[in-house]
Amino acid sequence: MNLTTAPRGTYDIMPQEALIWQWMEVNIREVLLAYGYGEIRTPIFEHTELFLRGIGETTDIVEKEMYTFLDKGGRSITLRPEGTAPVVRAYIQHKLHGQGGTTKLFYLGPMFRQERPQAGRFRQFHQFGVELLGEETPLADAEIILLAHDLYQHLGLTELEIYLNSVGCSECREEYKKALIASLQASSSQLCPSCLNRLERNPLRLLDCKNDSCQKVTAKTPSIHDFLCQACKEHFIQVTTLLDQANVKYEIKPRLVRGLDYYTRTVFEVVNTDLGAQNAICGGGRYDGLVKECGGPAVPGVGFASGMERLFTTLEQSGKLPVCSKAPQVYIISLTEELSNVGFKIATTLRRNGFKVELGFEVKSMKAQMKAANKSGAFICIIIGEDEWKERQVTIKNMNDGQQIRVDLPDIVDQISNLISPQGVINQ
Ligand SMILES: [Zn+2]
Ligand SMILES: [Zn+2]
Repeated sequence: MNLTTAPRGTYDIMPQEALIWQWMEVNIREVLLAYGYGEIRTPIFEHTELFLRGIGETTDIVEKEMYTFLDKGGRSITLRPEGTAPVVRAYIQHKLHGQGGTTKLFYLGPMFRQERPQAGRFRQFHQFGVELLGEETPLADAEIILLAHDLYQHLGLTELEIYLNSVGCSECREEYKKALIASLQASSSQLCPSCLNRLERNPLRLLDCKNDSCQKVTAKTPSIHDFLCQACKEHFIQVTTLLDQANVKYEIKPRLVRGLDYYTRTVFEVVNTDLGAQNAICGGGRYDGLVKECGGPAVPGVGFASGMERLFTTLEQSGKLPVCSKAPQVYIISLTEELSNVGFKIATTLRRNGFKVELGFEVKSMKAQMKAANKSGAFICIIIGEDEWKERQVTIKNMNDGQQIRVDLPDIVDQISNLISPQGVINQ
C-alpha cells in the first residue's frame, strides 16, 4: 500500500478543476430549481437490503460492484452505488406520499462502485439525478426527458439526441420475455458466460451486454413493440407526441432496456452526437413498482441519473468548458515590514467589498514582489511604499497597460471599482 497515493479508482479534484465542477453544479441546480425540483441530500451509506431490493439482485451493481461491509454493530452497510433507491427510501420514510400529488426531488453527490478501473470509470464517481414521484401520466415522462435535454443545452451541449423505448409493464413484459428467451436460446452457443447464466432469470439484461458476439445475437431478437399491451402502447405514443411537440430529436431503440431491474414503460438515454461517437450522458426511465418494492405504497415514479465525470469529459471534448480562473483581481505589495499592516488592512477592506485579493505575506524586494504579482495573474497591483504613505496614499498599477495612479487611502474602493467590478469565484 502506498500511503501517498489515493486508493485505486479514486482521484482528487484540484482547485483549478474544482472551479469547473462548481460551474457545472451551479448550472445544473439552476435548471433543476427552475423545473421545480427540490434538493435532497441522503446519507452516503444505507442498509445493504435497500439496494438488493431497489436495484435488483441480478444486476451487475449488486452482483459485483457494491462496497458492502459489516459495521461494528454487525449491520450490513453499503456505500450508495446509485441515487434512486436512497431517494425512494427517504420519500417513504418522510411520508411524502401522504401529502398527495407530485414530489420532485434531485440529488447530486458521490456514488461508489467497485468497478474494474478503466478510462473514465472511477470507484468513487459523481452523479446528479432527478426523481418525479406520484405521477402516472406520460406528461411526467416527457417532462423528465425534456428536463434532461434542456439541462445539457443550458450547459452548452447543442447536438443532442434522445434514445427512447418502452419496456412495457409487468403484464405485457412477461409475454415478451418468453419470446426473448426462446430467441436467445436458439443462439445460446454464441453467448458469453454471464449472459448464458442470466438467460432465463433476466433475459432483458442480455440486451445490455457489450460483448460483440452477444450483440450480434440480441440484434436479431424480437422487438418489444410487438408485445406491448394497449395501455403501454398508448402511454408510449403520448410520450413521443409530447416530444414531437417540443421539437426534440429522438430515435426509438426497441432494444434499449437500461441496466436496472426496476424500469417500467419508458426508458431513455440522452446522447451527445457532436463528437461522432454516440456518447450517452444520461439515462433514466419510469419505475412504477419501485416505491412498493422498497416497502412503501404503490406510487409511480420516473427519473434519470447523469454521471458528472462523463459530463465533464463531454463538455471538455466539445470545447464547452468555461475558462475558469482562480487568479486574484488585485495583488497587494507592501515595500516595508511596517507597511505590511497597511496592506493587510486594505486587503481586508477590498475583500469585504467583494474583490478577489491576494496579499504577498513576505516583504521582499520590489522586483521580487512585482514578479509574484505578475505571476498571480492579477489585473491590478496596489503598491504601498514609504513615499506615498507619508501622504496617506498608495499606487494603483494596471497590470495590463502598466499605467499607474496615486490615490488617497479613503478612495481606494471607489478607484478600484472604476477599473473592475467585484465578482465571485468564476471569471467567464
Ligand atoms: Zn403493458
Ligand atoms: Zn453477453
